[in-house]
Amino acid sequence: MAAPLPRPPVALSIAGSDPSGGAGVQADLKTFSALGAYGTCVITALTAQSTRGVTHVHEVPVDVVRAQVETLVADVRIDVVKVGMLASAALVETVDALLASGPLAATPVVLDPVMVSTSGSRLLSPDAVDAVRALLPRADVITPNVPEAGVLLDEPPAESAAELPEQAAALRALGARRVLLKGGHLDGTESVDVWHDERGTSELRGPRIATTATHGTGCTLSSAVAALRPRHDDWLPAVREARGWLTEALRHGESLDVGSGAGPVHH
Ligand code: PLP
Repeated sequence: MAAPLPRPPVALSIAGSDPSGGAGVQADLKTFSALGAYGTCVITALTAQSTRGVTHVHEVPVDVVRAQVETLVADVRIDVVKVGMLASAALVETVDALLASGPLAATPVVLDPVMVSTSGSRLLSPDAVDAVRALLPRADVITPNVPEAGVLLDEPPAESAAELPEQAAALRALGARRVLLKGGHLDGTESVDVWHDERGTSELRGPRIATTATHGTGCTLSSAVAALRPRHDDWLPAVREARGWLTEALRHGESLDVGSGAGPVHH
């Protein structure tokens, strides 16, 4: 179990907005609160979306993203950062520079390399993939799903859990320090994720929850890892606790009955 802390950790989400509250900074802030962190956020893109999908994306100008981060960190000490939707190469490069300078340069970073929504909308421009690859070494942990790993590695997405360890190692070879490769998109009675760090590979298995309420699962997991990291002495225990917590959130999603599409997870 997570250790109590003298004061709540302060977590920053740099990500997109989802008005339906299932994904994006809204999911991140709710997750931070649920797991005992104080949440702050910098919005990179405004989406128009519901549980049925995304209808519009408006990128926040890079100087406005820079101003949000610089104003915040000049005042508030951030203990951990989660990075989500970055939309364009210019935004990826801006966030890369922000994470490399000032107080954030010494702050742990969880990077969720968001690319396409479950409903099939592009959340990252195709010409931004190289910039995301260049951002990988800036992260302490990256949390790609199977399609995102395929794009980053420029190879077909894994078709079975047996392929995940090799892909996770290849992602680390691209410069990510630690990789949580999420197998939730694969078939099977279990949900298998693979963790890869300097010590090697671990399979993280859990029950597959039969639910349509999966919207925001990736955002929620990466922000849970960020929120829990200050309560553990290493990343893997934080990842294990975050996965267990997300499993419960998936179990409770349908009871929310929000929207007619892929509803949000609920915690
Ligand atoms: N909208 C925003 C702003 C997001 O950041 C994300 C995912 O990271 C999504 C939508 C997609 O969420 P999902 O694929 O769970 O529907």
